[in-house]
Amino acid sequence: MLDKPTYGQPCNACGRCCQDELCGLAKKVFGPRPGPCPALAELESGFGCGLILTPSRFAPVPASVYGTVAVSEAAALLCAAGAGCDAQGHDELVDEAVRARVMDATQSRPQAEIEQARAIWRAAWLPESAEPFIR
Ligand code: SF4
Ligand code: SF4
Repeated sequence: MLDKPTYGQPCNACGRCCQDELCGLAKKVFGPRPGPCPALAELESGFGCGLILTPSRFAPVPASVYGTVAVSEAAALLCAAGAGCDAQGHDELVDEAVRARVMDATQSRPQAEIEQARAIWRAAWLPESAEPFIR
């Protein structure tokens, strides 16, 4: 497994975050549980997110209604893909300005876009996974 880059650096697909714990969207889809995430997919060059790569496998109803591209993009938004490494190691100190930049990459998206992504995935959520999540 690749070493995890420093928080805020570009994601290198090491997969450590999703090995350790589930993201907010994964908790909705699979229920709260310890890692690794059931959607974590091993690729030739590291790890990827199955909800983004193969959404019809995990969200067949949304995929049939909205199409796999839209469901994949919605997963990427809700998983904060592209924001840089947002996993803080247990002994890793993070500059608050860097944290703000990483968090802002997702939270600055229009609220309507975030709500649409949630609406797309809602049919694939477990009914009992009702705790709110920010992304
Ligand atoms: S977000 Fe960080 S820990 Fe997660 S796969 Fe990317 S680099 Fe690795
Ligand atoms: S849903 Fe994707 S991003 Fe979220 S924990 Fe699972 S593999 Fe990682």
